[in-house]
Amino acid sequence: MTGSKGAEKARKAIIDDVVKKVSSGEVPLNKVDEYVDPQGAAEVRRLALERILGVEIRHAKSPFIDYSAIVGKNAENVFGSVSIPMGAAGPLEVNGKHAKGKFYVPMATTEGALIASVNRGAKAITSSGGATVRVIGNMMTRGPVFRLESISDVEDFLDWIEKNKEEILRIAGGTTNNGTPKGIMPFVLGNNVWLRFGYDTGDAMGMNMVTIATETACSHIEEKFARARLIAISGNLCSDKKESFVNSLFGRGKTVIAEAIIPGNVLSEIFNGANAMEINDLNLRKNWLGSARAGSSKYNAHFANSIAAMFIATGQDPAQVVESSSGYTWTEVRGNGLYISVTLTSLEVGTIGGGTGLPVQREALSMLGAYGSGEPKGSNSLKLAEIMAAAVLSGELNLLAALSNRELGKAHKRLGRNTKA
Ligand code: NAP
Repeated sequence: MTGSKGAEKARKAIIDDVVKKVSSGEVPLNKVDEYVDPQGAAEVRRLALERILGVEIRHAKSPFIDYSAIVGKNAENVFGSVSIPMGAAGPLEVNGKHAKGKFYVPMATTEGALIASVNRGAKAITSSGGATVRVIGNMMTRGPVFRLESISDVEDFLDWIEKNKEEILRIAGGTTNNGTPKGIMPFVLGNNVWLRFGYDTGDAMGMNMVTIATETACSHIEEKFARARLIAISGNLCSDKKESFVNSLFGRGKTVIAEAIIPGNVLSEIFNGANAMEINDLNLRKNWLGSARAGSSKYNAHFANSIAAMFIATGQDPAQVVESSSGYTWTEVRGNGLYISVTLTSLEVGTIGGGTGLPVQREALSMLGAYGSGEPKGSNSLKLAEIMAAAVLSGELNLLAALSNRELGKAHKRLGRNTKA
């Protein structure tokens, strides 16, 4: 037996042994890494789960994920990965400050008709000279909550924070080479004080970065102002992964606006006779009146659709679709053409860190010329935000036009159920 064959046999014997131990309950799923390397650990969990559950788990085995790069970074108890179809919408012309030119936007979804929807909207926008896009705000936040004994302590605390703000921000900034603290916004309820810290996080989405920085700042605050007790580093005024007005009002991540003017003939040609007046009327009644009547804070048609598909494709944190899909779709009739804009109040994206370095996600970002650190730093994440906003605009335009034409059901029958409309 050659050396490599012998080593392979020995490894298989270890894997078989650990599979038995996991299946019998002797070794829990989260301790498998102590017995085998990360690649082997994924295999052990997969085989053990097959035994325990009596279910075949064949397709979760990924041919290209390096599990050693995931441990301690992206996921725990890993036994495989999930594959989601990915398509491209485009070419989409973007006239941003960082994204300039035509892009093919990667989108991962299982909702038939979604990519086609963005694709058709992109065609209309590109035929009309492209989407103009601007990032008007850029700040990732963490909002720790402190308890004070009384409101006179609250008053002293707010005064102390204001006087020592520069020092607190300097200490927070000392934890990162790529993040810059920008400010602290206090909120008060009774004897509770929230300090909403804001940071420019460069090309990273920045949640880990700002949590580490804010924790360090909070230790300093507790040390110097002993009457304040930190209750939680996240006091929900951040607000991460939850719907909130604070993000809509003050921004979180990137605040982005994209707009386009679609001439009447382009509307008619691409959207089968659609016209600006009907689309504008529909937007007001659906996205504004309908959302108000429903008590929704999202005055848009389906930002979440495009955002979720692009987030999954490019390795963003999918749970942040919650606030990243907040925003407004605005339309006006301009002659016989349509002015349309989308305002995304809190788009949380990065091109480095998190899931962006996984093999497929990295390729998707590379398709947009936006993987990793930008030159200058931060420019890649701004570019990605601009492209995403233009794609959201495409999806909004198409859905509004399709609704005004009563085409929605037909498209979903054809592309979502593979049946003729
Ligand atoms: P990260 O992967 O934790 O860190 C990325 C790091 O890359 C930065 O901290 C920075 O290091 C470094 N870096 C190198 N070049 C950079 C550049 N050009 N721009 C910015 N950073 C650069 O990523 P993260 O964005 O801070 O956090 C994202 C992760 O947080 C995701 O996995 C997400 O799921 C998770 N998450 C965490 C929380 C939480 O509460 N902690 C909440 C929600 C989501 P230096 O800072 O050392 O300079």
